[in-house]
This record gives sequence, C-alpha cells and structure tokens, in this order.
Amino acid sequence: MSTAADRFATEGFGPENLPYASFSTRGGNPRLGARLGDRAIDLAALVSSVEGLDAVTRTAASAPNLDALLVAGHETWTALRSWLVDVVTSEGQAEAVEQASHPVGEIELHMPFTVADYVDYYASEHHAANVGRIFRPEQAPLLPNWKHLPVGYHGRAGTVIPSGQDFPRPKGLRPEQGGPPSFGPSRRLDIEAEIGFVLGGCAPSGEVSLERAATEHLFGVVLFNDWSARDIQAYEYVPLGPYLGKSFASSISLWVVPWEALSAARVAPPTREHDLVPYLDDTNEQPWGLDITMGVTVDGHAVSSPPVSTMYWTAPQMVAHMTVNGAGVRPGDFFGSGTVSGPERDQRGSFLELSWGGTEPFTLAGGTEMSFLEDGQTVTLTGTAPGPGGSVIDFGECTATILPATTAGEVAAAAPTRVPASGPAPE
Ligand code: MN
Repeated sequence: MSTAADRFATEGFGPENLPYASFSTRGGNPRLGARLGDRAIDLAALVSSVEGLDAVTRTAASAPNLDALLVAGHETWTALRSWLVDVVTSEGQAEAVEQASHPVGEIELHMPFTVADYVDYYASEHHAANVGRIFRPEQAPLLPNWKHLPVGYHGRAGTVIPSGQDFPRPKGLRPEQGGPPSFGPSRRLDIEAEIGFVLGGCAPSGEVSLERAATEHLFGVVLFNDWSARDIQAYEYVPLGPYLGKSFASSISLWVVPWEALSAARVAPPTREHDLVPYLDDTNEQPWGLDITMGVTVDGHAVSSPPVSTMYWTAPQMVAHMTVNGAGVRPGDFFGSGTVSGPERDQRGSFLELSWGGTEPFTLAGGTEMSFLEDGQTVTLTGTAPGPGGSVIDFGECTATILPATTAGEVAAAAPTRVPASGPAPE
C-alpha cells in the first residue's frame, strides 16, 4: 500500500503545496483541480468518490474555478485543503486519486478565478528607491510617505490575463524631447516581477485587521508580471497616477498556491524605520514576510532573481490599508505586490532598473544586448519557497511573448495646443 503522495509527488508539487487551477481536458468543460506532482486532480471527481466533506465544501470544490470557494469563505477553503491533504497522504486512496486525475501535460489551464477589484502596490523598498534615483536623482530616493503606508493604486481587473496568453505591444502617447508627444507603439516596454495575492471572503464594511486579513481573507499567492509601458506611463501619470501604461496586460501564473501552504515560508519583514499607525503596526503580530525566490528569464536566459523576503510591506498590511477607510473586500479581489527588487543588481525585478533607465544596456547569455523588450521576446517568471520539513513549494511559471503592435505605421503627433505667450489657454 502506498499513498498518492508517495506515488505522484515531485519536488515542489508535494502534499505540502497542492496548488489550485481551473483546467480542462480535450473537449471537456473547465473544472477545479489541484496539482500533485505531474497530475492535476479533478476535484469534482475526487469529492464524488471519496467521502468526508460537507455539502457546501463539495459544491465549492465541484465548480469550474475558484470563484465559489472564494465566496464560501475561509472555513470552507480550510476544510477542503485539510481533506485534500488527508486524501493524498492516506494509505488506500492512491487509486481514487489516480482515477480522478490527469497528466498535467494533457490539460489546458484557464483563469483560476474571476478578478474582482485589482490593486497594485509598490511594496519593495529597493524598487521604489531605484525608481526614485532614476527619475528624481536630485531628491531623496523615497518619498516621505513611503515608510508610513503601503503606496498603491486601483488597477484594471479586466486586463489581468492568464499566463501563456501573448499580447501585442501597447500603443499610446510617448513623450518626445522638446515637442509634443507622439502616438505609437511603446518603445520602453518593461516587466514588473511581482507576486499576486488572491483574496476571498466578504468584509463589506471594511476595517479588516492584520490578523483577520491573514486568517480570513488571504486565500493564495501567484506569480504576477505587471507589464508596463514606461514611456506611456511617464507621460500620463501626472497628477493622478498610472493608467494606460499599466492596463493593457498583467499576467498571472495559473496554479494558485494556498496561503496555508506558505506557513514555512513566513519570515519577519525588514525592520520598521518608523513607528507605524496602529492599523498597520505589525510589531507584535505573526511574521507575514514571505521567503519566495523568483526567477526572471528572457528567451530562456536568466536575468534576475528577485527575493520577496525583502519586501517592506506585507499582504495583511495591504488588506488592512485598503479597508481602513471603510472599503470592503470582495471575493476575487486581487493585489499585486509591486515590483520585487532586492539590494543586488541581479535581484532587480524590472528592465527599468536592470538597464538603469535605459542608460546601461545589459547582455543576455545568448549575446543579445537589451534595455527594454523587443517584439518576439518571451519573459517567464518562476518562484519557489521553502515548505514544511525541508520540502519545496513551487509556483510554476508565468509567461508571455510580446507580439508586434497591431498596426505597422506610427501616427504623427497631434498638432500642439496653442498656448498664448502669457495667460491661460482659451477654453
Ligand atoms: Mn505593478
């Protein structure tokens, strides 16, 4: 007798991980799956052949994706996970798991949940300081607010896309030296190597504490590439912040690692430089930093290994901050962490930083010199974290290829607005 874990587990995808995805087999409808080694377990099939779950949890597990589980709340997702861990590690259930599962090479993955509201944070001190040095060299690298609250902005949920979906280079208004902007394909297309947090449960009246965020609302973690058009972003962002330079595509990895699978990856965040206001103060809380090491490759060549453990702000702080004004949490809310950059050059999570604003092009192992992305290039993010008992938690990958912009020609700049030599422009 052996367990399903004995039979199928691989390093990174053992019973400690069991990430969730929405998958289909050839000709089939999407269903919720959990990964063990190189098998995708069809949860609807497993709950119908193995007992032990209540009706609510069975229903949530039998859905086409994570939406119902995220609505059902943390008690349901904890029940499903503990049952699943039990099934895959119990003698006598290996046959049932095998019967209910498919080789991952034979399935297609889909968006694992419907993104409700999407917020992108800016939680890496090294990234924020590098960006400050590049764009505001005459000022202190960090703005005065940065260590008092987790800076973020509301993003566009509808353009969070699944890993593997390629997309065309975005177009927009690009700043031009000494003249009006021009319209055309971005010349400074970049990545942002981030992790993403998937939220569940409802908190309609907001004011979610750090503790409740961690225990009731953080469902899972994915890899997240928040593609950014730096030229479009640079021209448009004053005074209201990022808009079209960020909202054309943001890719997520498709195996959602449960928050509960990261218990052994939790580390203390960096020492807080200032006393934090009470709702953000994690001095006496559990450590919610995460020891995830990411990898960034371009066309298969490694360019960077961003360390998530260096992030200044934690996911519970992001939840507490977003909700302190009374804004609620909805199932399917999604947070980007912000670009993850460590202190070393080869730990930077954007080409903006790796090429220092385009002034220091770097060379890929294959000999290609680059600053920003060219059409046809493929960027892949990977990530691993320590699991319990020396195991590894693998996040799979988040990948996409840049397609050419959808029209070949660039459109000439609009005529500049006539501004009188003195006084305001006429309305
Ligand atoms: Mn971002």
